[in-house]
Amino acid sequence: MNSLFNLEGQVALVTGASSGLGRHFAQTLATAGAKVAIAARRTESLSDLARKISAEDGRAIPIRLDVTDPNSISACIDTAETELGPITILVNNAGIAISKPALELEREEWDRVIDTNLNGVWHMAQQVAQHMVRLGHGGSIINVASVLGERATGQLAGYCATKAAVVNLTRALSIELARYNIRVNALAPGYIETDINRDFLTGPMGEKLKKKIPQRGFGQERDLDGALLLMASDASRYMTGSVITIDGGQSAAV
Ligand code: NAD
Repeated sequence: MNSLFNLEGQVALVTGASSGLGRHFAQTLATAGAKVAIAARRTESLSDLARKISAEDGRAIPIRLDVTDPNSISACIDTAETELGPITILVNNAGIAISKPALELEREEWDRVIDTNLNGVWHMAQQVAQHMVRLGHGGSIINVASVLGERATGQLAGYCATKAAVVNLTRALSIELARYNIRVNALAPGYIETDINRDFLTGPMGEKLKKKIPQRGFGQERDLDGALLLMASDASRYMTGSVITIDGGQSAAV
């Protein structure tokens, strides 16, 4: 590992680490040397991931977390810090999408998306930042937004609204937290193949979507590694309030 991106001595907390990008982020951070608290609602798959990381000489502990519940958040942070030490990297990755026409979206569905994607990111960032400030060591908060935080698409009103809010929350927090040596940046992926969307993306709809992407393909999980390690490490020590878009050119095209 290039020493610029080395994370030895760091403690990372990754939310929504039981599947998809969160699972991959946890492995990438562990490979770079960080001890990783892997957190999600489903702890069975987290235990598998912790074993996999240990087998590759990393250190990870599974922690139950529901980002919509502030008590669950504080318990998760306390466990992570007791087991691994002060958190220096937070990857706010947990997120959901409910795809439905706006006219049919139920209030409960709208609230669930806001509670997870926006309130969850906010409560996680606020509580972890409070710990970082109290302990005085600074750190890096990485919010996982989306290209749908800058552009929009049909049938995903709540998702688009929350991701746009996460982008500007990232900027707002970066201003207030800079004096404490806490950097806050956002990752805005386009379509990235994961276990959950692979069938859809490799089907007929995927073929249509691909034509709108200048690089004519979907991203792979590893395509986010460079930006993740940049934002997590000292390589980005003069970078805060930034959004890195990784989308094969999708949002550059009209
Ligand atoms: P995913 O469904 O595989 O992962 C989401 C994770 O969040 C899961 O582990 C899930 O259990 C967890 N989660 C959901 N609600 C939670 C809650 N209340 N508390 C704790 N954990 C919760 O999807 P993914 O594609 O890996 O998405 C990860 C993040 O990346 C999301 O924020 C998503 O919006 C964003 N994103 C994904 C893509 C993509 O193409 N895959 C593109 C842009 C943005």
